[in-house]
Amino acid sequence: MTDRLLHFIDNALAEQPGARTAPVFDPATGVSSKRVLLADAETVRRAVAAASAAFPGWRDMSIARRQAILFRFRELLESRKDELAEIITSEHGKVLSDAAGEIARGQEVLEFALGFADILKGDYSVNASTGVDVFSFRQPLGVTAIISPFNFPAMVPMWFFPVALAAGNTVVLKPSEKDPSAALWLAALLAEAGLPSGVFNVVHGDKVAVDALLEDPEVASVSFVGSTPIARYIYETAARHGKRVQALGGAKNHMLVLPDADLDLVADAAVNAGFGSAGERCMAISVVVAVEPVADALIERVTARMADLRIGDGRRGCDMGPLVTREHRDKVASYIDLAAQDGATVVVDGRGIEVDGAEGGFWLGPTLIDRVPTTSRVYTEEIFGPVLSIVRVQSYEEGLSLINSGAFGNGTAIFTNDGGAARRFQYEVEVGMIGVNVPIPVPVAYHSFGGWKASLFGDAKAYGRAGFQFFTREKAVTSRWLDPSHGGVDLGFPRNS
Ligand code: NAD
Repeated sequence: MTDRLLHFIDNALAEQPGARTAPVFDPATGVSSKRVLLADAETVRRAVAAASAAFPGWRDMSIARRQAILFRFRELLESRKDELAEIITSEHGKVLSDAAGEIARGQEVLEFALGFADILKGDYSVNASTGVDVFSFRQPLGVTAIISPFNFPAMVPMWFFPVALAAGNTVVLKPSEKDPSAALWLAALLAEAGLPSGVFNVVHGDKVAVDALLEDPEVASVSFVGSTPIARYIYETAARHGKRVQALGGAKNHMLVLPDADLDLVADAAVNAGFGSAGERCMAISVVVAVEPVADALIERVTARMADLRIGDGRRGCDMGPLVTREHRDKVASYIDLAAQDGATVVVDGRGIEVDGAEGGFWLGPTLIDRVPTTSRVYTEEIFGPVLSIVRVQSYEEGLSLINSGAFGNGTAIFTNDGGAARRFQYEVEVGMIGVNVPIPVPVAYHSFGGWKASLFGDAKAYGRAGFQFFTREKAVTSRWLDPSHGGVDLGFPRNS
């Protein structure tokens, strides 16, 4: 029997008779037992109308009551997060511990957002002019749309919705159609926590649903995370329709290894950051830039660690699970074919791996490719799978210029024991998030997340104070209470005295 995954509108599951649907797979078995609805424009309109109707009530609710609801959501999530991890693993394929990790990072943002009463306090200047006070405060935008990718079905929505809701907005979330159940689970939990009807809605779908959100006049802002071509499209289309937009795109993250680095630490980091979540992380390391003479010694250490990785069904205590769909698995594998054609050396080949899992699963083993030509598409394009490339360079300067010449600027890391070199790197590299002996430098919730160049369109990063800035707009009030001595007509431009 095939389950139908419905929309969630006005705190209830919502059918869409006659809807187009798409299969949702269990990547470890290759079996699809669910189909997700794909919204048409009319269904998106229903969700936006629900969010719009709910907005005034939610915006006007006291800080104390809004906080109480979000605290209750935090408590419910904490007590039931194992359920959510299982859902994520069953549709995404990542191992359970990794699913738990993404929930924990989402919870961090929720916990940060719970401090909204302090963060959103305004400014007040007494006697800016004689008897005149000036103050500013921030107000929510209205209906905010979130469009999220498959690779973090809980965390990425949680980068945005706790902040959007805390600031008094209502939300329409369109999760990835590849793993949509986590969003539904979160929506039901928010309702259980007491979130009023219509404040948080989920519509499933593809380009049709996304376009309807981008064009709807009642949608005030769009927060998007996904691949670079789609991010660019979202940014341009949403802006053309007058919306505030932040569109986070793809990545190709480099790890620069200097000759003085601790190679055991580097090898651990490269394996963790290259193959964790089967490389389906926007902050994964996909290129190790080895400043010679370290490459051979590093490859030896990395291959030894790769041999110990257990690949299999994420529910069975393995290290790495399958890829999300068969198409994605085949696309990633095609880059390994290409690497060999382009003259690179495939040191460890993950094609044809045998795994502890069902034969129909979307398996691809960890792959290591040395001497990748920087002209090859294996180097220039985002692969988004368990494929780690090695590029050999002769100096720090050569490595830096390679990193800076790339199209993306999401994350990067330097491994060295030289504080001066690390300091220089963090200043000179043109990338938004930098690790110093830290391979996956995802900022904590009270800083903000976002890359440079083709990794972020728009200037607003996710979460942290930047998140609250994005989800609110400021008003400045200049006020004077009646004082007859200051009356009179004056057509000059206001001056303060
Ligand atoms: P994707 O771009 O295929 O899809 C993202 C969202 O866009 C989904 O909701 C999808 O339904 C929708 N979409 C797909 N095609 C569309 C179209 N033609 N028009 C309008 N909407 C469309 O991305 P994905 O494969 O789900 O996720 C992986 C990508 O996301 C990788 O490129 C990864 O680097 C990126 N990502 C980036 C970050 C970041 O913070 N920069 C974080 C996570 C993932």
